[in-house]
Amino acid sequence: MRLFYEPVTTPCGHTFCLKCLERCLDHNPNCPLCKENLSEYLATRAYNKTLLMEELLQRYFCDELAERQKVHEEEMKELSNLNQEVPIFVCTMAFPTIPCPLHVFEPRYRLMIRRSMETGTKQFGMCVINRFADHGCMLEVRDVKFFPDGRSVVDTIGIACFKVLSHGQRDGYHTAKIEYLEDKKVEGEELTELLKLHDSVYDQALGWFTSLKDDMKNQIISHFGQLPVKDSDPQGNPNGPAWCWWLLAVLPLENKAQLTILAMNALKDRLVAIRRVLIFVTRKRPR
Ligand SMILES: [Zn+2]
Ligand SMILES: [Zn+2]
Repeated sequence: MRLFYEPVTTPCGHTFCLKCLERCLDHNPNCPLCKENLSEYLATRAYNKTLLMEELLQRYFCDELAERQKVHEEEMKELSNLNQEVPIFVCTMAFPTIPCPLHVFEPRYRLMIRRSMETGTKQFGMCVINRFADHGCMLEVRDVKFFPDGRSVVDTIGIACFKVLSHGQRDGYHTAKIEYLEDKKVEGEELTELLKLHDSVYDQALGWFTSLKDDMKNQIISHFGQLPVKDSDPQGNPNGPAWCWWLLAVLPLENKAQLTILAMNALKDRLVAIRRVLIFVTRKRPR
C-alpha cells in the first residue's frame, strides 16, 4: 500500500491522492467512494491540498513520506524520458512544423496529456493507426483547453520524425522506444544538384497551389496556414524544409504514401517523391 501523495479532499469530504483522483475522474465524474457527482468540482479544477493530512503525514510518517516522494520523483524522471518509453498517441498522421489539433476524450489519453504537462516535456509521439505505424512524429503541446466534463482540445505542432524501435504499454496507452530521424547531409556536387531540385520542386508546388480554386485554397490555408517560404538552407533542419511537410499534409495522399515519405531520411528522395505527386495531381485536374 502507498501513502497518500498530495492528498486532496472532494466537496463530499473524501480524501484521495490528487493523481489517483484525477485518474478516477477520467473514467467518470463521480466520487470513487460515495459516487457523489463531482462534475462541477472537475470543471473548476480547484483541487485544494488537504493541509491537515499533509501535516499528519509529515509528523508521523516522515521517512515513509520521503520514500514516497522519491518514488514520485523516479516516476516523473521515467515519464520525462523521450527516447526510452515515449507515450504514443495512436490517431492520425502528423508532420514536423505542421499544427495538429487533437480532441482528447479517452481516459488513457487524458492521462497521457496530463502527464506530458506535469513532467514539463509537453511532448508525445503521434502514430497513424496502421496497427500502429513504425514511423511517427513527435508533437509539442502549445495549448490545452479543458472542458468541464474533462475532455480537452489540445493544440499541438509537429517537431521531429521518429522510427519506432519497440512497442510498449503504460497505464493503458501505447509507448515506444524510438529513434529520431535525421536527413543525411550532402556536400559538393550532390549539394548543387539538391539545391537545384529543391528550387524546381518548390516552384512546382507554388504553381500547383496558386492554380487551385479560391475556396479550396482558403480551406487549406485555414487548416494548415500559407505555403511556408522556401528555405535558404534546405539542410538547415534535421528533418528538412517545412514547406515539404506542409505539402505532404495538404496533398491528397493516402496515409500509406505519407508514411513512406515520412520515413525517408534523404531530402533528395523526399523531393523526388513530392515531385511525382505534384505531377500526378496537376495532370489529373480537368482544365
Ligand atoms: Zn493514491
Ligand atoms: Zn465522496
